[in-house]
Amino acid sequence: MTDRSPLRDLSAPPFATRHIGPSDAEQARMLQAVGYASVADLVAVAVPGMIRAEGPLRLPPAASETEAIAELRALAGRNRLLTSMIGLGYHDTITPAVIRRNLLENPGWYTAYTPYQPEISQGRLEALLNFQTVIADLTGLDVAGASLLDEATAAAEAMTLARRAGRAKSPVFVVDADALPQTKAVLATRAEPLGIELAEADLSEGLPGGELFGVLVQYPGASGRLKDFRALAEEAHARGALVVAAADLLALTLVESPGFLGADIAVGSSQRFGVPLGFGGPHAAYMSVREGLQRQMPGRLVGVSQDADGRAAYRLALQTREQHIRREKATSNICTAQVLLAVIAGTYAVYHGPEGLRRIAQRVHRHAAVLAAGLRGAGVEVVHEAFFDTVLARVPGRAGEVVAAARARGINLRHVDADHVGVACDETTTGGHLAAVWESFGLEGVVLEDVDTSASDALPGELLRSTEYLAHPVFRAHRSETALLRYLRRLQDKDIALDRSMIPLGSCTMKLNATTEMEPITWPELAGLHPYAPAEQAEGYLALIADLERWLAEVTGYDAVSLQPNAGSQGEFAGLLAIRAYHRANGDLERDVCLIPSSAHGTNAASAVMAGMRVVVVACDDQGNVDLADLDAKIGKHRDRLAAIMVTYPSTHGVYEETITAICARVHEAGGQVYVDGANLNALVGLAKPGAFGADVSHLNLHKTFCIPHGGGGPGVGPVAVRAHLAAYLPGHPLRDGGPVGPVSAAPYGSAGILPISWAYVRMMGGEGLTAATEQAILSANYLARRLAPHYPVLYTGREGLVAHECIVDLRQITKETGVTVDDVAKRLIDYGFHAPTMSFPVAGTLMIEPTESEDLAELDRFVDAMIAIRGEIAKVASGAYDRADNPLRNAPHTADCLVADDWQHPYTRTEAAYPVPALREGKYWSPVRRIDQAYGDRNLVCSCPPLEAYED
Ligand SMILES: *Cc1c(COP(=O)(O)O)cnc(C)c1O
Repeated sequence: MTDRSPLRDLSAPPFATRHIGPSDAEQARMLQAVGYASVADLVAVAVPGMIRAEGPLRLPPAASETEAIAELRALAGRNRLLTSMIGLGYHDTITPAVIRRNLLENPGWYTAYTPYQPEISQGRLEALLNFQTVIADLTGLDVAGASLLDEATAAAEAMTLARRAGRAKSPVFVVDADALPQTKAVLATRAEPLGIELAEADLSEGLPGGELFGVLVQYPGASGRLKDFRALAEEAHARGALVVAAADLLALTLVESPGFLGADIAVGSSQRFGVPLGFGGPHAAYMSVREGLQRQMPGRLVGVSQDADGRAAYRLALQTREQHIRREKATSNICTAQVLLAVIAGTYAVYHGPEGLRRIAQRVHRHAAVLAAGLRGAGVEVVHEAFFDTVLARVPGRAGEVVAAARARGINLRHVDADHVGVACDETTTGGHLAAVWESFGLEGVVLEDVDTSASDALPGELLRSTEYLAHPVFRAHRSETALLRYLRRLQDKDIALDRSMIPLGSCTMKLNATTEMEPITWPELAGLHPYAPAEQAEGYLALIADLERWLAEVTGYDAVSLQPNAGSQGEFAGLLAIRAYHRANGDLERDVCLIPSSAHGTNAASAVMAGMRVVVVACDDQGNVDLADLDAKIGKHRDRLAAIMVTYPSTHGVYEETITAICARVHEAGGQVYVDGANLNALVGLAKPGAFGADVSHLNLHKTFCIPHGGGGPGVGPVAVRAHLAAYLPGHPLRDGGPVGPVSAAPYGSAGILPISWAYVRMMGGEGLTAATEQAILSANYLARRLAPHYPVLYTGREGLVAHECIVDLRQITKETGVTVDDVAKRLIDYGFHAPTMSFPVAGTLMIEPTESEDLAELDRFVDAMIAIRGEIAKVASGAYDRADNPLRNAPHTADCLVADDWQHPYTRTEAAYPVPALREGKYWSPVRRIDQAYGDRNLVCSCPPLEAYED
């Protein structure tokens, strides 16, 4: 050994070189193509000087992957994992290992995007349809959606649904006093701006008098009480109100369904179907409705339709209800939901089947019944006769003592009040836990076996479930591990996720979700914590949360951050609530106008309405920028009532608007607040800070800029960041600390379980790495724009013809001349192995392309080559070389099945259809279905697993 390098030269390259796709050499080639000598030169021109941040980000220097994992291990080690018997809608569960490894920990599932391109999403759509079938069956209602954000927000969505759909004109919504405390609190947050009056009532006494438009029943209640609500539902209907049941799915395998008992809407959490507690989330909430209400449902709904060959195929149904289309008239602001978690819950039911679920439920119930009998036998008062899994014990003056004794034995119980203790059993409860609980109550000598022999069950006879569920063959066919493994693999293989190719979706930032970032989320010390575990058991989580809040404040230039909102839409709502509360605190009760540019994301308008604001649209000029003259006119007209403006920056057109500081100044001058939608922060990190260039509040999407994977349409985290004057109005939580504004999520820190992902990203990139990522994202977008410009018009460029982190190509003229539409191009890209860019947003007839920093030059070029080849095909349509109606674009995507058919009738060859570029001969992605007929599926709505005959030709 003669050559000696110093140790530091031999350490691993920084993580940033793994996260950022292009090498230095590739970056140099891209710069050359774009015409700049350095990234600094490019950025100096692309990003307006007046918004540029001064100095580098003040973040800890980048850690290596090994160091970051070690730090996360240390943080996780500061959590204390006790057995949780707290209940309140969160129950420990066993994630079957085959599901954990092959689904939750599998990039084929977690890196997929929302299934807006249904042909390349058949696998996750089928898995979601399984989820919907589970929900519809167990709740006994006709139509179930494909997940909502959490039980509390689902209850709030049900409340507004009942108000929209019901006959009653009353503003009163009655809430079960025995509803989950977080549900009551979120209902209160959501009701107030809309003028809904909540009336809490003890429903065991029946419905209170007076008018109402709806009632929410918790089934079973937070106290464990299980009560037949048939008579109550009948009375509510007679009085013109709709009935919402918040129900526990596991209980429903043993007791009659909400639909059977008369509920119009059911909501709840599917967490205990195999999804880890994660200190509060992410978990999939569910909603199901009776026939007639499905067009009013919030969120996504998977339906069955047919493809061009008439075969059954899945896609998202009734999209016209959603905020993307209806904006301020939308049924809800929900966009990102909880797809990955819904897929896990649905698969848990596929794995266990109806008898398996029933057996788990019986075991849970039996433990609760034995626990209660032991307590009673030893003289402790058990409050309710009928319950499923939760036992409420009355111990006058002794509750604190019992809870402390249990904690000393490694168990958390629910400290209801000075006189009551709640104990919830779950799938992991054992006889040993029961013995420890008895001891905690001070009982000696209770013998499990003796109690078990004598105790009777506590399910009321009139509620025992007689109706069938999960009769579909899918819930029988995959019970062995081999069968389930292959089923999951088969579904995964149908889809395009980031593990196959780039997903160039503008506005969605589909970047690397690094394995090191993902690994910690299934560690028991992070996955196993109950959201209401005492703070001293969550030290590691609280430290991680504090780090991330601080880092995000530094990155955005704001003073305070809340991680509670569990999607961007919820961050918007929280941010607008802060603005509203601020105006009210200043005595400005009249300020309720929210200005929103016409180009805004649909969630903006929908969130403003939820926050009790009136939306006034501001025009955009033909460059896609806010029209300042119209802005002045609208400010002039609404000056005294101006609450806020919501602008996206860079604009939804992917341009750094030069006028942003002027917009901020004009709105401030009129007394309004500035909300900058930060979903496009990937164009700003390290270069500009919304909190420093004039905005008052922003939400960010950690599932875009900060590496949380999209999961096929969720989970997400949408932190809200504010300047100091709004900090007091960030969302509070009744089970942590409250403030003037209530919670927007069920759990105090929302989807805490996935925060380690963003923590690891920031920790491993450091300030320099984050800035380099932004610079590369800008370079990559400009590289694509430059290479595509000779073939497609590129819209909306800023200074020197540069774009920000995404670019829009315009097909409108092409469509006019040739009849080839954006749809045709998007579907043809599938034949080339790509997920289409964002279609027709923000401008109809265009494609918005966002490459992100993570794609290397070879992949960018492969995409450009596909787009250029497609342009060649379009030229053949224009010249008449291809038939206008029967060509590879119009017929895309092509399945293997249609290509090998004996009667190939098309005027182009099979090779042209399947292998338009030679590289496709290796490892081609085959679309499992032909183009799907959207309208057919909406006309013939089927939203649960269709019978097998439906798949026959
Ligand atoms: C993605 C996005 C949102 C909504 O975020 P969700 O997490 O899907 O609710 C809002 N605004 C813009 C500009 C976005 O791109």
